[in-house]
Amino acid sequence: MSAGTILTVSGLTKSFGDGEAETLVLKGIDLQLAEGEMAALLGPSGSGKSTLLSILGTLMRASGGSHEMLGTDLMQASEAERTEFRSKYLGFVFQFHHLLPDLSAIENVMMPAAAAAGRETAPMRSKAGELLDAMGLAERRDFRPAAMSGGQRQRVAVARALINDPVLVLADEPTGNLDRQTADEVMALIRSINDSLSSSFLISTHDAHIAAQCPRRIELLDGRIVHA
Ligand code: ADP
Ligand code: MG
Repeated sequence: MSAGTILTVSGLTKSFGDGEAETLVLKGIDLQLAEGEMAALLGPSGSGKSTLLSILGTLMRASGGSHEMLGTDLMQASEAERTEFRSKYLGFVFQFHHLLPDLSAIENVMMPAAAAAGRETAPMRSKAGELLDAMGLAERRDFRPAAMSGGQRQRVAVARALINDPVLVLADEPTGNLDRQTADEVMALIRSINDSLSSSFLISTHDAHIAAQCPRRIELLDGRIVHA
Protein backbone atom coordinates (compact mmCIF):
# COMPACT_ATOMS: atom_id res chain seq x y z
CA MET A 1 0.00 0.00 0.00
CA SER A 2 1.56 3.30 -1.07
CA ALA A 3 1.21 6.35 1.17
CA GLY A 4 -2.26 7.81 1.11
CA THR A 5 -3.86 4.76 -0.50
CA ILE A 6 -6.99 3.71 1.39
CA LEU A 7 -8.30 1.01 -0.92
CA THR A 8 -6.76 -1.51 -3.31
CA VAL A 9 -8.63 -4.06 -5.37
CA SER A 10 -6.90 -6.36 -7.87
CA GLY A 11 -8.34 -8.82 -10.31
CA LEU A 12 -11.71 -8.43 -8.63
CA THR A 13 -14.47 -10.49 -10.18
CA LYS A 14 -18.15 -10.98 -9.50
CA SER A 15 -20.46 -13.50 -11.06
CA PHE A 16 -24.12 -14.17 -10.41
CA GLY A 17 -25.86 -17.52 -10.76
CA ASP A 18 -24.08 -20.81 -11.38
CA GLY A 19 -23.73 -23.54 -13.93
CA GLU A 20 -25.01 -22.56 -17.36
CA ALA A 21 -26.79 -19.53 -15.89
CA GLU A 22 -23.57 -18.05 -14.48
CA THR A 23 -22.84 -14.54 -15.69
CA LEU A 24 -19.63 -12.69 -15.05
CA VAL A 25 -20.51 -9.09 -14.25
CA LEU A 26 -17.14 -7.75 -13.01
CA LYS A 27 -14.31 -9.13 -15.12
CA GLY A 28 -11.15 -8.31 -13.20
CA ILE A 29 -11.16 -4.86 -11.63
CA ASP A 30 -7.87 -3.22 -10.60
CA LEU A 31 -8.36 0.00 -8.69
CA GLN A 32 -6.83 2.14 -5.98
CA LEU A 33 -8.38 5.07 -4.16
CA ALA A 34 -6.42 7.70 -2.27
CA GLU A 35 -7.29 9.43 0.98
CA GLY A 36 -9.52 12.44 0.42
CA GLU A 37 -10.02 12.01 -3.30
CA MET A 38 -13.30 12.45 -5.14
CA ALA A 39 -13.77 10.16 -8.10
CA ALA A 40 -16.62 9.47 -10.47
CA LEU A 41 -17.39 5.89 -11.50
CA LEU A 42 -18.78 6.49 -14.97
CA GLY A 43 -20.44 3.82 -17.05
CA PRO A 44 -23.62 3.01 -18.95
CA SER A 45 -26.52 1.21 -17.33
CA GLY A 46 -25.62 -2.45 -16.80
CA SER A 47 -21.84 -1.88 -16.83
CA GLY A 48 -21.52 -3.03 -13.19
CA LYS A 49 -21.36 0.23 -11.21
CA SER A 50 -23.84 -0.75 -8.51
CA THR A 51 -22.29 -4.20 -8.18
CA LEU A 52 -18.81 -2.71 -7.72
CA LEU A 53 -20.06 -0.14 -5.18
CA SER A 54 -21.89 -2.87 -3.24
CA ILE A 55 -18.69 -4.91 -3.07
CA LEU A 56 -16.54 -1.92 -2.07
CA GLY A 57 -19.19 -1.14 0.54
CA THR A 58 -18.98 -4.70 1.95
CA LEU A 59 -22.69 -5.17 1.20
CA MET A 60 -21.78 -8.00 -1.17
CA ARG A 61 -18.72 -10.25 -1.48
CA ALA A 62 -16.59 -10.46 -4.60
CA SER A 63 -16.30 -13.86 -6.31
CA GLY A 64 -12.55 -13.61 -6.80
CA GLY A 65 -9.52 -11.35 -6.67
CA SER A 66 -8.38 -9.24 -3.76
CA HIS A 67 -10.11 -6.47 -1.84
CA GLU A 68 -8.13 -4.64 0.79
CA MET A 69 -8.95 -1.42 2.64
CA LEU A 70 -7.01 0.27 5.46
CA GLY A 71 -4.93 -2.86 5.93
CA THR A 72 -7.95 -5.15 6.29
CA ASP A 73 -8.34 -8.06 3.90
CA LEU A 74 -12.06 -7.83 3.21
CA MET A 75 -12.12 -11.04 1.16
CA GLN A 76 -10.96 -13.06 4.17
CA ALA A 77 -12.86 -11.07 6.83
CA SER A 78 -15.86 -12.68 8.54
CA GLU A 79 -19.35 -11.21 8.12
CA ALA A 80 -19.13 -9.76 11.64
CA GLU A 81 -15.79 -8.12 10.84
CA ARG A 82 -17.15 -6.74 7.58
CA THR A 83 -20.20 -5.29 9.35
CA GLU A 84 -18.01 -3.61 11.94
CA PHE A 85 -15.69 -2.30 9.22
CA ARG A 86 -18.67 -0.88 7.32
CA SER A 87 -20.08 1.03 10.28
CA LYS A 88 -16.65 2.42 11.21
CA TYR A 89 -15.23 3.44 7.86
CA LEU A 90 -17.90 3.62 5.16
CA GLY A 91 -20.77 5.95 4.31
CA PHE A 92 -23.50 5.47 1.73
CA VAL A 93 -25.70 7.64 -0.47
CA PHE A 94 -28.23 6.06 -2.81
CA GLN A 95 -30.26 7.31 -5.77
CA PHE A 96 -33.36 7.44 -3.61
CA HIS A 97 -32.58 9.24 -0.39
CA HIS A 98 -33.97 6.62 2.07
CA LEU A 99 -34.59 9.29 4.72
CA LEU A 100 -36.98 8.41 7.52
CA PRO A 101 -40.18 10.34 6.88
CA ASP A 102 -41.08 10.97 10.52
CA LEU A 103 -37.69 12.45 11.44
CA SER A 104 -36.54 16.00 10.79
CA ALA A 105 -33.47 16.68 8.65
CA ILE A 106 -31.17 16.95 11.65
CA GLU A 107 -32.59 13.80 13.25
CA ASN A 108 -32.06 11.90 10.00
CA VAL A 109 -28.44 13.08 9.85
CA MET A 110 -27.78 12.06 13.47
CA MET A 111 -29.53 8.72 13.11
CA PRO A 112 -26.50 6.52 12.17
CA ALA A 113 -24.47 7.99 15.04
CA ALA A 114 -27.32 7.73 17.54
CA ALA A 115 -28.02 4.16 16.46
CA ALA A 116 -24.34 3.21 16.91
CA ALA A 117 -24.12 4.85 20.34
CA GLY A 118 -27.57 3.73 21.46
CA ARG A 119 -28.59 7.31 22.21
CA GLU A 120 -28.46 10.85 20.90
CA THR A 121 -25.83 13.24 22.32
CA ALA A 122 -25.31 17.01 22.17
CA PRO A 123 -22.02 16.72 20.22
CA MET A 124 -23.81 14.54 17.67
CA ARG A 125 -26.51 17.15 17.24
CA SER A 126 -24.01 19.96 16.80
CA LYS A 127 -22.01 17.96 14.27
CA ALA A 128 -25.18 17.10 12.34
CA GLY A 129 -26.03 20.80 12.32
CA GLU A 130 -22.58 21.69 10.95
CA LEU A 131 -22.90 19.10 8.19
CA LEU A 132 -26.33 20.46 7.24
CA ASP A 133 -24.86 23.99 7.21
CA ALA A 134 -22.06 22.80 4.92
CA MET A 135 -24.67 21.29 2.60
CA GLY A 136 -26.49 24.63 2.45
CA LEU A 137 -29.38 23.50 4.63
CA ALA A 138 -28.98 25.68 7.72
CA GLU A 139 -32.60 26.82 7.38
CA ARG A 140 -33.95 23.31 6.89
CA ARG A 141 -32.70 21.55 10.02
CA ASP A 142 -36.15 20.96 11.47
CA PHE A 143 -37.98 20.16 8.24
CA ARG A 144 -39.17 16.68 7.47
CA PRO A 145 -38.27 15.08 4.13
CA ALA A 146 -41.77 15.62 2.73
CA ALA A 147 -41.36 19.38 3.20
CA MET A 148 -38.10 19.48 1.22
CA SER A 149 -37.26 19.38 -2.49
CA GLY A 150 -35.54 16.39 -4.10
CA GLY A 151 -32.19 18.18 -4.14
CA GLN A 152 -32.53 19.17 -0.50
CA ARG A 153 -33.32 15.58 0.47
CA GLN A 154 -30.22 14.31 -1.32
CA ARG A 155 -28.15 16.96 0.47
CA VAL A 156 -29.52 15.66 3.79
CA ALA A 157 -28.59 12.12 2.66
CA VAL A 158 -25.01 13.28 1.95
CA ALA A 159 -24.80 14.92 5.40
CA ARG A 160 -26.11 11.69 6.98
CA ALA A 161 -23.46 9.64 5.15
CA LEU A 162 -20.77 11.83 6.75
CA ILE A 163 -21.93 11.79 10.39
CA ASN A 164 -19.58 8.96 11.45
CA ASP A 165 -16.50 10.49 9.70
CA PRO A 166 -16.25 7.75 7.08
CA VAL A 167 -12.96 7.21 5.29
CA LEU A 168 -14.91 6.53 2.09
CA VAL A 169 -18.39 7.55 0.96
CA LEU A 170 -19.93 5.38 -1.76
CA ALA A 171 -22.65 7.22 -3.64
CA ASP A 172 -24.67 5.22 -6.19
CA GLU A 173 -26.19 7.58 -8.77
CA PRO A 174 -26.90 10.20 -6.09
CA THR A 175 -28.09 12.69 -8.70
CA GLY A 176 -29.91 10.15 -10.87
CA ASN A 177 -33.32 11.31 -9.73
CA LEU A 178 -32.64 15.06 -10.03
CA ASP A 179 -32.93 17.55 -12.86
CA ARG A 180 -29.64 18.82 -14.27
CA GLN A 181 -29.48 22.13 -12.43
CA THR A 182 -30.30 20.51 -9.08
CA ALA A 183 -27.82 17.71 -9.81
CA ASP A 184 -25.11 20.31 -10.49
CA GLU A 185 -25.87 22.04 -7.18
CA VAL A 186 -25.62 18.76 -5.28
CA MET A 187 -22.32 17.92 -7.01
CA ALA A 188 -20.91 21.37 -6.20
CA LEU A 189 -21.81 20.93 -2.54
CA ILE A 190 -20.25 17.45 -2.44
CA ARG A 191 -17.14 18.94 -4.05
CA SER A 192 -16.91 21.69 -1.44
CA ILE A 193 -17.51 19.35 1.49
CA ASN A 194 -14.89 16.98 0.04
CA ASP A 195 -12.42 19.90 0.06
CA SER A 196 -13.01 20.53 3.75
CA LEU A 197 -13.08 16.93 5.05
CA SER A 198 -10.67 14.01 4.69
CA SER A 199 -13.36 11.57 3.47
CA SER A 200 -12.95 10.18 -0.05
CA PHE A 201 -15.95 9.94 -2.37
CA LEU A 202 -16.68 7.44 -5.13
CA ILE A 203 -19.75 8.57 -7.05
CA SER A 204 -21.33 6.39 -9.70
CA THR A 205 -23.15 7.94 -12.62
CA HIS A 206 -24.12 7.13 -16.21
CA ASP A 207 -23.92 10.85 -17.03
CA ALA A 208 -20.62 12.21 -18.39
CA HIS A 209 -21.68 15.74 -17.46
CA ILE A 210 -21.93 14.72 -13.79
CA ALA A 211 -18.65 12.78 -13.96
CA ALA A 212 -16.91 15.85 -15.40
CA GLN A 213 -17.49 17.58 -12.06
CA CYS A 214 -15.22 15.10 -10.27
CA PRO A 215 -11.43 15.58 -10.26
CA ARG A 216 -10.96 11.91 -11.25
CA ARG A 217 -13.04 9.76 -13.57
CA ILE A 218 -12.96 5.97 -13.52
CA GLU A 219 -14.76 4.53 -16.53
CA LEU A 220 -16.44 1.16 -16.41
CA LEU A 221 -17.60 -0.64 -19.53
CA ASP A 222 -19.08 -4.14 -19.51
CA GLY A 223 -17.46 -5.09 -16.20
CA ARG A 224 -14.00 -3.72 -17.01
CA ILE A 225 -12.27 -0.48 -16.14
CA VAL A 226 -11.34 1.21 -19.40
CA HIS A 227 -9.98 4.40 -17.87
CA ALA A 228 -8.89 5.16 -14.32
P1 ADP B 1 -25.14 -0.57 -13.26
O1 ADP B 1 -25.27 -0.14 -11.84
O2 ADP B 1 -23.91 -0.05 -13.95
O3 ADP B 1 -26.37 -0.28 -14.05
P2 ADP B 1 -25.31 -3.27 -12.17
O4 ADP B 1 -24.11 -3.46 -11.30
O5 ADP B 1 -26.59 -2.96 -11.51
O6 ADP B 1 -24.95 -2.16 -13.28
O7 ADP B 1 -25.52 -4.55 -13.07
C1 ADP B 1 -24.50 -5.08 -13.89
C2 ADP B 1 -24.99 -6.37 -14.52
O8 ADP B 1 -25.15 -7.34 -13.49
C3 ADP B 1 -26.33 -6.26 -15.20
O9 ADP B 1 -26.30 -7.04 -16.36
C4 ADP B 1 -27.29 -6.83 -14.19
O10 ADP B 1 -28.39 -7.41 -14.82
C5 ADP B 1 -26.45 -7.87 -13.50
N1 ADP B 1 -26.85 -8.09 -12.08
C6 ADP B 1 -26.78 -7.18 -11.10
N2 ADP B 1 -27.20 -7.69 -9.92
C7 ADP B 1 -27.54 -8.98 -10.19
C8 ADP B 1 -28.06 -10.06 -9.39
N3 ADP B 1 -28.28 -9.91 -8.09
N4 ADP B 1 -28.28 -11.23 -10.03
C9 ADP B 1 -28.03 -11.40 -11.33
N5 ADP B 1 -27.54 -10.43 -12.13
C10 ADP B 1 -27.31 -9.23 -11.58
MG1 MG C 1 -26.68 0.95 -10.84
